[in-house]
Amino acid sequence: MELIQNFSLKDYIFLIFSFLFGSVFGSFCNVCIYRFPIGKSIISPGSHCPKCNNPIAWYDNIPIVSWIILLGKCRHCKAPISFQYPLVEFLSALLFVIIFLRFKYTLATLVYCVFCAGLIIVVFQDLSTWTIPNEVTLLGMPLGVGIGLLGMFFPNQGIRLEGPFEAIDGIALGALIICLLDLIVVLLMRKPGMGFGDVKLLSMLGAFLGWEGVLGSLVIASFIGSIIGLIVMGYYSLFRKKLNEERQKNKDVESNEDTSYPVDPAEAVIVFISGVYLLARILQFYIAYTEKAIIPEEILRGITLVGGGGLLFSIFIAIIAYYVWQKERKGKSIESQEEIEISLESHYIPFGPYLSIGGFLYLLWGPEIVSKYLQVLSL
Ligand SMILES: [Zn+2]
Repeated sequence: MELIQNFSLKDYIFLIFSFLFGSVFGSFCNVCIYRFPIGKSIISPGSHCPKCNNPIAWYDNIPIVSWIILLGKCRHCKAPISFQYPLVEFLSALLFVIIFLRFKYTLATLVYCVFCAGLIIVVFQDLSTWTIPNEVTLLGMPLGVGIGLLGMFFPNQGIRLEGPFEAIDGIALGALIICLLDLIVVLLMRKPGMGFGDVKLLSMLGAFLGWEGVLGSLVIASFIGSIIGLIVMGYYSLFRKKLNEERQKNKDVESNEDTSYPVDPAEAVIVFISGVYLLARILQFYIAYTEKAIIPEEILRGITLVGGGGLLFSIFIAIIAYYVWQKERKGKSIESQEEIEISLESHYIPFGPYLSIGGFLYLLWGPEIVSKYLQVLSL
């Protein structure tokens, strides 16, 4: 790496500081991952062993180091301490170092370290409880808008967004894409796929990375998801017998399924509202850039037609889905409406970790890769 070659003493000090700061932040992430799902306060009481309830002394609570010294066991009752604790602390330290190397001495380093800590909480909570914490996603959205504002006033501080509206565009597109995919899956296959947690997560990524970040994160997430999917499929094909048994089981479940459309009306409303908002933004973009004449007229018209067409299609799907939901609701008793809600949860696919990794990678190199790609295209 060329950047390490001309490192000054100050750079090394900040590098070490980033690692230490990251590990302490990781320790805080651990508290959040453990306490958010059970609805406990993250401030008080202080850390204590979940088994013997003894408070954990400061010298047993040093990130990474204490777990190694204690050999992963409680000092008092010898109950095992999960490997997840030092793992999260080390990961957080490592990612803070990477962010420092990428953004150096800018406001962006501070901002994106916090963003990254949020993503770590999302990944580990989603993996362990299949839920995505609202404490991160719902707080992250207004925070992203605020950071967009910061980027407007401090344009040379490495912040990815240059204004609050870029953050709002990202929130709207993030919500629209996941809800739209879900509505299409429901209308075609009659079973829901994603959870609402993913909707809020992609919106939060959009709040920090803009609408381009939403698309970039999705592309990276799908790529990683399909690779891991292939590995899992390869693993199962080695145990074909087991797979066939499971398929048989799934068939039994499918045959019991009722033939209704489990449309979530909130998704239809979200797609409609964000679709209309983004359509207005695209028209505004078109008018503004026609006056500026930076982009050639045909390309500008092409972008507007493709984007606008996609949004009109989304609005159309939202209206159809809402109509289907209304029709279904009229023909059903209250009991079977409850059944629909249960089936919504049972088909949930955890996409949060992939999205978070996609968002992190896009944060580091996304805009540079896109602009390189566009340069190649124009040559
Ligand atoms: Zn204990």
